[in-house]
Amino acid sequence: MSRVFSDVVIVGGGVVGCSAAFHLSQPRGARVIVVEKGSLASGMTKRSGALIHTSFTHAPEARLALASLRYFQDWKEIVGGSCGFTQTGCAIVTGNETAAAKLREQIAALWKIGSHTRVISLEQLRELAPGARVDDLTLAAYEAEAGYADPVETTRTLAARAKERGVAFKTGTLVKGIRVNMGRVSGVDTTTGEIDALTVVVIAGAWTDRLLKPLGVEIGIQNTRAQVVFFERPAELKAGHAAFIDGATGAHFRPHTFGLTMGGLNTPQGEEKDPDHFDEHVAPEFVADVRQRIAARLPALAQARYIRGHAGIYDTSPDARPVISRVPGIEGLIVAAGFSGEGFALAPAVGACVAEMITDGAARSVDLRPLQLNRFSKNDTVTG
Ligand SMILES: Cc1cc2nc3c(=O)[nH]c(=O)nc-3n(C[C@H](O)[C@H](O)[C@H](O)COP(=O)(O)OP(=O)(O)OC[C@H]3O[C@@H](n4cnc5c(N)ncnc54)[C@H](O)[C@@H]3O)c2cc1C
Repeated sequence: MSRVFSDVVIVGGGVVGCSAAFHLSQPRGARVIVVEKGSLASGMTKRSGALIHTSFTHAPEARLALASLRYFQDWKEIVGGSCGFTQTGCAIVTGNETAAAKLREQIAALWKIGSHTRVISLEQLRELAPGARVDDLTLAAYEAEAGYADPVETTRTLAARAKERGVAFKTGTLVKGIRVNMGRVSGVDTTTGEIDALTVVVIAGAWTDRLLKPLGVEIGIQNTRAQVVFFERPAELKAGHAAFIDGATGAHFRPHTFGLTMGGLNTPQGEEKDPDHFDEHVAPEFVADVRQRIAARLPALAQARYIRGHAGIYDTSPDARPVISRVPGIEGLIVAAGFSGEGFALAPAVGACVAEMITDGAARSVDLRPLQLNRFSKNDTVTG
């Protein structure tokens, strides 16, 4: 067993952990170690749908998404290598008047903070998404800059650049516990030894509460099942199609590489108790359900051949917003989790903010005060 000294330990080598490592690496100069129990991106990142858009209903998340979009667009210059960003455009559509009124309000708020998502007519939607059925819709919005990326390549390139700049990665190493002395973090105990550190950042997604609970802290993250399925695109859609977040059918879908279309449902599919043991397979009924909902918008996909699918887990906080925060009462402990089904699109800016919290004392890129952990303390969800 070894004993190692470091300034910062990041627990979790997913896209958010590796983004934090990238942003903490030189020229900031901190000694950083990322500890990952599996391989990099082996958690929910590798299972991500990786849809990138900025049409969030909550301003802090929209700001994180906007800041992140610039990274995905200029990945080669900012990070190096390719994250596989493919611009597809994304339509957000609703099927009733109440949802339409909410969407209108949301788009107006998004414009104020710099998102280019705009309300479009159903005629314009037909032009942007040829073959789409629109007669059941009440409103459509469109973000031309939206798209998707390769979640594993995104993580790999962030980690590669961080490593080049001096960050150490310990994969295949489980953090067994976080050490706290007199109200201050002092390091972590791992399966390969102890690491002393002034700051510990827990970016462990669905495993986060498991690490925090022994310290008397609990965010109250609910782990829920989310599945995505891939279909072969028919010849008439060979060139691709816009992504859709479809409030009328309850599904979302986007084109994927290799002539595929990837889709899933807008709401998760029940609780998952153990992120280390869950059924990763997708049931035929789910495949049929998603195909039917996608075909209700793009009828050309009605007979699309099912290629593959997988399940993953959304880590959802009590108010379904991320937590990016210092942990009250434990100096040096920071947590970034609760990203649910949207953490990939936010990862570049979240990593930047975490690095700013450590080196500058507070996040500067985006005001993260609404995402602090103490927002739950009123209802006693957080016990630390
Ligand atoms: C099916 C599915 C579809 C999705 N689609 C989208 C989408 O279209 N767009 C979008 O923006 N987001 C999407 N998401 C969400 C997004 O993928 C996640 O929010 C994001 O990947 C979270 O990254 P992370 O680094 O926080 O967590 P993870 O990738 O889960 O990384 C956490 C890491 O911590 C490690 N770890 C845990 N405990 C320990 C320990 N004790 N010691 C050491 N290591 C530990 C784990 O092994 C894991 O690798 C989707 C998620 C799923 C499941």
